[in-house]
Amino acid sequence: MLNYEKLEDGIFLVRSNSKFGEQCNGILIKNIENSGNILIDCNFNSNEIQELYKSLNNKLTAYYASHTHLDHVSNIHYYETLGVKIYCPIPEDRYLKDMNTFMEENGMVDCGVDDIFRNIILQTLNFKHLTRCTAFKPGTKFNYGKIILETIHIPGHSPGHTAYLIRDKTCVRRDILFVSDLGIERSGPWYGLKHCNLKAYRNSIKKIEDIYLYGSSDDKILASGHGKSYLIKQPEIFRNTLKKIEINEGKVLSMFHADKPKNLNDITLKGVYYTEKHIRNLFTDFKKIHFFWEWYIILHHINELIEKNKLIEVDSEQKSFMLK
Ligand SMILES: [Zn+2]
Repeated sequence: MLNYEKLEDGIFLVRSNSKFGEQCNGILIKNIENSGNILIDCNFNSNEIQELYKSLNNKLTAYYASHTHLDHVSNIHYYETLGVKIYCPIPEDRYLKDMNTFMEENGMVDCGVDDIFRNIILQTLNFKHLTRCTAFKPGTKFNYGKIILETIHIPGHSPGHTAYLIRDKTCVRRDILFVSDLGIERSGPWYGLKHCNLKAYRNSIKKIEDIYLYGSSDDKILASGHGKSYLIKQPEIFRNTLKKIEINEGKVLSMFHADKPKNLNDITLKGVYYTEKHIRNLFTDFKKIHFFWEWYIILHHINELIEKNKLIEVDSEQKSFMLK
């Protein structure tokens, strides 16, 4: 079953209440003054997609993806079978046609976990490649009648990660800023793949903060891919998001000593990002995946800490490091 939270007249934050699999929130813009029905990130299961499609009288003008992490796109092929035009930000459109590229570029092959990921992507999640996908450059504006859909490039979480600013040309509705996986929810920013980039992530958080606090209108509704919506202005929210990255950095630094080097493998899954309680309850393959994700989260911090002259690399093969 889907739950529709009204953000503005005709605009909803849509959630699944299914207990199975990783869920993300999506946005529905419902045919405002003949603008057509538009969806963003509504990666629901097949029954829910049918329910949603039926509720829109089988009319869907466009579907937009914010990025191609599997919790956001694993069911996107259902929309293609309905004949819906699917938009995906460059350079991630390639992944929807070939997940092997995603795995090669994200370290799964290098780290020997590509078979586990392939099995989960194709069997467990039942992901199917798209035959068609319309790529767009983040920053492009799309017009649907009185609605302007502004896409905003927010790389860092992924290279094409895109936020959406939904504006009403007649200013009858408040602006809605959908920031997908920028990390404003409780768990914070996530950067557990090779293609994540911490510097870009911080810049994207600051960029969205500027738009939220000082952009076209200073009265925006804020929503994201996993958390709740914010109808009342939250001036602190992006500062708190940045703070979570700094806390993670502090935890990584505290793992190292000045007298003896430590290997990256030995400090992974020791509480830097995932709690030990969370890890304890996982099946073997999922534990391996979490190890892989946290390994990259820590590695991104280590690379920055070397640049900041706080850590030195002792052995590049072993990936061992110590405090400077
Ligand atoms: Zn993501």
